[in-house]
Amino acid sequence: MTKCMAKQDLDEREKSIFKNLSDFQKKDFSFQSGRILGSMCSHPHPIAKKAFVQFLETNIGDPGLFPGTKEIEQEFISFIMDFLNSPPSASGHIVSGGTEGNIAAMWVAKQLSNKNEIILPSSAHFSFEKIASLMNMKLKTIPITQNHCMDITQLKKHITSDTAAVIGIAGTTDLGAIDPIPEISEICENEHIFFHVDAAFGGFIIPFLRNIGFHLPCIDFSLKGLSTISLDAHKMGYATIPLGTLILREKRWLEEISVKSQCISTETQAGILGTRSGAPVAAGYAVTQYLGKKGYEQLAKEVMDLTKYAVQNINNIGLELVMEPPLNVITVKVNKLNNIVDTLAEYGWKVNKVDHLSGFRIVIMPQITKSIIDKFIPILKRTCHEVGEL
Ligand code: PLP
Repeated sequence: MTKCMAKQDLDEREKSIFKNLSDFQKKDFSFQSGRILGSMCSHPHPIAKKAFVQFLETNIGDPGLFPGTKEIEQEFISFIMDFLNSPPSASGHIVSGGTEGNIAAMWVAKQLSNKNEIILPSSAHFSFEKIASLMNMKLKTIPITQNHCMDITQLKKHITSDTAAVIGIAGTTDLGAIDPIPEISEICENEHIFFHVDAAFGGFIIPFLRNIGFHLPCIDFSLKGLSTISLDAHKMGYATIPLGTLILREKRWLEEISVKSQCISTETQAGILGTRSGAPVAAGYAVTQYLGKKGYEQLAKEVMDLTKYAVQNINNIGLELVMEPPLNVITVKVNKLNNIVDTLAEYGWKVNKVDHLSGFRIVIMPQITKSIIDKFIPILKRTCHEVGEL
């Protein structure tokens, strides 16, 4: 009887917890609803969700316990290394996302060179500020051109005897702009400087768009000067959060960011994190196997077609863009930025502010459809009239 009562109590408690959770969740915007228009993350592919749940208890930080999950990790990394034309010497490391990918890359660069300066374009992601603070490194910022890309005429002038690494961005956070990666690579190769490409956003779309004939810069290891590249499967990879990957030209560089480990199944452990869930890795594996290269090419084409459609509609209501989008990132130039973003949020639509460009960002992620754009545009128009933008 007591047992029975206790079970009833627990059932009630569970019900109440899940009601509370749902109440919290109701306050969130959701990717699934299509109302989040400004984020670089997406509603995960259904296959990814399924695989994630199956691997909830796994820990790739202790691979001796989960050798099967470790194999999944290798297969997932191999898929990426393949589409990035990686040499046989290359290797990959799973990270939580673009920030950790950049941190790990700069850790390698610092260890290899024993130098302290990072040269990067002013369009670089703010994660490099964290790196400078964490690793006591100095950021040397290069101005960008009218196309919002690194001005490479400035690059050589910034290189000194203390340069540890140069950063190129393949898909900037604000605009999706792509730095002249081949030209930067050539300079770094000649100067023997570590070159890291931050392709957190562009890594899972640029190679596929190139495959189907888009004229975009090469961002892969066929460029001899490219040392590392980080790319996020939780952005254009259509996988679950958190899943990023750092690919290194030389596997041995991982030893530079490894320490001796105890109480786990391996003698050393590479990278920043210890315990790491295998669930996002299984999700990444599932979605990459399911879509394959052809699926990503198709997806890349679809988001670019929809980007074009959204741009036309935005222009038709009288708004202009900061630049023609090279990728599926649309940044709309407005005067009443705060009013527009706040009013759109009141109407239930989330776009992201890009203050320094006086613009707001829309990212056409895989879950965004034409009918979502068709619903959004009249609201955008109405908002712009209400706040006096149009
Ligand atoms: N690098 C770039 C170019 C990004 O756009 C972002 C995030 O948007 C990051 C790095 C950081 O990625 P995360 O938020 O996954 O750490």
